[in-house]
Amino acid sequence: SALAFQQRTAIVAAGQSYRYRDVLTASLAACRKLEGAAAPAAATSGAALGSAGPRVALFAEPGAEYVAGQFGTWLHSGISVPLCLSHPDRELQYVLEDAQVSSVLASERHAERLYRLAQPFGANVHVVDAPASSTEEQKQQEEHGEQAAELEAEVSQRLAGQRPEDGALIIYTSGTTGRPKGALHTHSSLLAMVDTLCSAWEWQADDRILHTLPLHHVHGIVNALLCALRAGACVEMLPRFQPGEVWQHLVRRHDPVTVFMGVPTMYSKLLSTYEHMEPSHQQQAAAAARRLRLTVSGSAACPTPIMERWEQLSGEKLLERYGMTETGMLLGNPYRGERRPGTVGQPFPGVQVRITNADGSDAGAGPGELRVRGPQLFKEYWRRPDATAEAFDEQGFFLTGDTGVLEKGGYYRLLGRTSVDISALHIESALLEHPRIAEVAVLGLPDAEYGETIAAVVALKTAPQQANTAASAAASSSSGGNGSLTLHDLRAWARDRLPPYQLPRHLKLVEAIPRNAMGKVNKKELRKQLFPDA
Ligand code: ATP
Ligand code: MG
Repeated sequence: SALAFQQRTAIVAAGQSYRYRDVLTASLAACRKLEGAAAPAAATSGAALGSAGPRVALFAEPGAEYVAGQFGTWLHSGISVPLCLSHPDRELQYVLEDAQVSSVLASERHAERLYRLAQPFGANVHVVDAPASSTEEQKQQEEHGEQAAELEAEVSQRLAGQRPEDGALIIYTSGTTGRPKGALHTHSSLLAMVDTLCSAWEWQADDRILHTLPLHHVHGIVNALLCALRAGACVEMLPRFQPGEVWQHLVRRHDPVTVFMGVPTMYSKLLSTYEHMEPSHQQQAAAAARRLRLTVSGSAACPTPIMERWEQLSGEKLLERYGMTETGMLLGNPYRGERRPGTVGQPFPGVQVRITNADGSDAGAGPGELRVRGPQLFKEYWRRPDATAEAFDEQGFFLTGDTGVLEKGGYYRLLGRTSVDISALHIESALLEHPRIAEVAVLGLPDAEYGETIAAVVALKTAPQQANTAASAAASSSSGGNGSLTLHDLRAWARDRLPPYQLPRHLKLVEAIPRNAMGKVNKKELRKQLFPDA
């Protein structure tokens, strides 16, 4: 669909802007590089596995080169495998090897590193370039008709042989519950994910999204990038999320940003940055927050206090939605209509949801495991037929591994991972209401006496706390003002909010809770790090 918007601005990155046409031209250039490469060993062994196209890893900075790499791979009938820019060598090697990539497209500054990592697997490494960003003058001089037609002809010709059931994208899961698994999406499942969101969230060509999410997960790739491009909108990309920088872009009056998407910790950081601004800047920021037409939160549960503070600031609730690498977005609060904090809303059109008992029988309104079916589901776990078989039931429903309940009005509430203790989320939400706690992760530790005891890992708010409500003033005095938080004080404070058996018995204070790129906490890892003897 990029062809339909040739003259419009597709990407803005590092102060340069690129039209859809520029991006397509660069995509064709990337495609030709892939084509020029001699078939290496890995590609041949890939072919022996079945009819899957060549896997092309993508290690590109957020910007036009990333899009050119992804589109170029598709023009080449390949499967794009986006890598995480912040992963250490070992993690990258795991993906390169697991996906059996035959080529890598890398930004120039990363090409050497990727060459070192990919060479042992016999993969080619090509530099993927950002397009030349054409000046206004050039744009006017171009004979639009002729050049546009040529570009259109070449793109259409390359896409002619492509079938909807062909593989398009392997995205690795976050690795929260085990080693990351590669989820293979086809052009058809990808398109279903994109089209569902484009219509549910009313994406328009005059939208402008400020994109600060990592580009190796569904949230950043599909929800934020591909939906915008499908609609002909403009994607303004920042290399990383920094709250101060995000506010700078949001307050800008010209080319106003209309859409923002983030994981809950991003909103929490935006809010605390806002709270420490001087009053005149606060006014500008509040006006900017009110101008946004859509703010989406997902990838992890959004604590209700963050929802409430954002609503106070912007006049609108964040739209919380729930999805997975394997399935794209499944449930979401409505764009128009009641958004219910603490819930993940209703199924998107085309998504069927069941709540089931462990044996797969119907659990009515639950609680139970969510099973889902729909056109946007992935095809398989890459090279893991056993895992794929285990993940689906006889009727083709995918087992999400998440526990939920159905509430009045058709809203679903998630209670946690089916395999993990479901009370953790509840305890975390309660503790987050403590005025001095910025972040918390609750862990269950084995205990001889109680079977399991609760440990709270807490990061305190750093800046001096302004007691701006009666409740927080009372709470901070009862927890000893600005001194360090003790277990005793925390338990005393939490007693009104949690049943006795859910009160923490251990407290670890940390600077910040370690999270992966998607804002998730790997609790197994955290437990190993902080409580090695448990
Ligand atoms: P792995 O599958 O490797 O263990 P992961 O499940 O965290 O990792 P993703 O596919 O990135 O990998 O994340 C999907 C999970 O994220 C969902 O199963 C769900 O547990 C969680 N999630 C996503 N959105 C929300 C939300 N709004 N509220 C709560 N949890 C969410
Ligand atoms: Mg998962």
